[in-house]
Amino acid sequence: MNLNFKNKKTLVRVDFNVPLDTDFKITDDTRIRAALPTIKHILNEGGAVILMSHLGRPQKKINEDGTVNTKAFTLNHIIKHLNKLLRIKVQFCPETVGPQASKMAKSLKSGEILLLENTRFQKEESAGDKAFAKQLAALADFYVNDAFGTAHRAHASTTVVAQFFKKDNKSFGFLMQKEIENAEKVLNNPERPLTAIIGGAKVSDKILLLERLIDFADNLIIGGGMAYTFLKAQGGLVGNSLVEEDKLKLANRLLAKAKKKGVKIYLPKDSVIADKFDAKANKETKYSKRIRKGWMGLDIGKKAQKEFSVVILNSKTILWNGPMGVFEMKPFANGTKAIARAVAKATSKGAFSLVGGGDSVAAVNQMGLAEKVSYVSTGGGAMLEFLEGKELPGIAAIR
Ligand code: AMP
Repeated sequence: MNLNFKNKKTLVRVDFNVPLDTDFKITDDTRIRAALPTIKHILNEGGAVILMSHLGRPQKKINEDGTVNTKAFTLNHIIKHLNKLLRIKVQFCPETVGPQASKMAKSLKSGEILLLENTRFQKEESAGDKAFAKQLAALADFYVNDAFGTAHRAHASTTVVAQFFKKDNKSFGFLMQKEIENAEKVLNNPERPLTAIIGGAKVSDKILLLERLIDFADNLIIGGGMAYTFLKAQGGLVGNSLVEEDKLKLANRLLAKAKKKGVKIYLPKDSVIADKFDAKANKETKYSKRIRKGWMGLDIGKKAQKEFSVVILNSKTILWNGPMGVFEMKPFANGTKAIARAVAKATSKGAFSLVGGGDSVAAVNQMGLAEKVSYVSTGGGAMLEFLEGKELPGIAAIR
């Protein structure tokens, strides 16, 4: 962010896509807080800030008469809270681009903030429309992208808009910089051993990530629902556990590739099994490869927790994506909790740990361990794609 913001107007793409309750009250303001350092920095440097963001998916819930549902998706819902966090009155423009937006942007003074209406009220946003992006760009002197969570989308406000600013007039915000730096700590010359812990529901969502990890990790711990596809591929009996039959061959190929490359794969030796997918189900702990018909593995067992924890504690770099079990149900949350504790302990012993991707982030937050790991990513899908080795359009547009 080494632009000279003094007396300039800066268009800042933030990710204010926060969850709202039925009264349109913010239920989690993490994303707003994450953008504050960038906004405050520009103001402190004597600049003016024009904020833009999306909120929800208004184009998926268009009114019967073809208009957007402004009541549900207006960014005006967050203005009160934003005022409180920033301790200044933020101006709100009820359009994203147009005569009013131009007028309000033009009269904006240094030290002031203007929030534009939801970028996705325009269908041109997701289409990456050039003319729309140009209208946005015309509002300001500089462009700063601080919305890591949408960096994997080639939308008008996240990517296309950048082409209307000269190289010296655009930059990443502090949050973007931090996300990129931390992901690169895992990808570029990590301290070894590097252990990746991958969990969550399905193999199919994470094929590319698993492929890539086998190229550069030393240890790969696989837990959660996806483990049962691997266990079945190895000949295990997994009962009614979540299995993707069409991914059995792929699982075997990945296991063979790991063996060839000397990457150690750890699957859960034992599982907490249940007779139905329900928090009140009957449960037992059994070897993961000997689950009888009608029962399903919903969490990793004690032996697996121990084995995984030892590997984690001996690691110097740790990447974690995805829960070890159905952690939303209390009886099946212990495996995920044990892993979170092990990652925190390894971090306290000097390891670098990155937690990236929706549900593992939720688990770490719920347990109050967010401060005890090195970095918790704010961008689920974007972080996954970054770690898969893809060039994110929002990042490429600035670089
Ligand atoms: P993902 O979004 O791919 O990280 O998957 C997260 C989801 O996987 C959570 O909702 C978990 O409940 C679910 N999950 C984790 N372990 C299992 C399991 N053993 N069986 C079924 N679902 C699981």
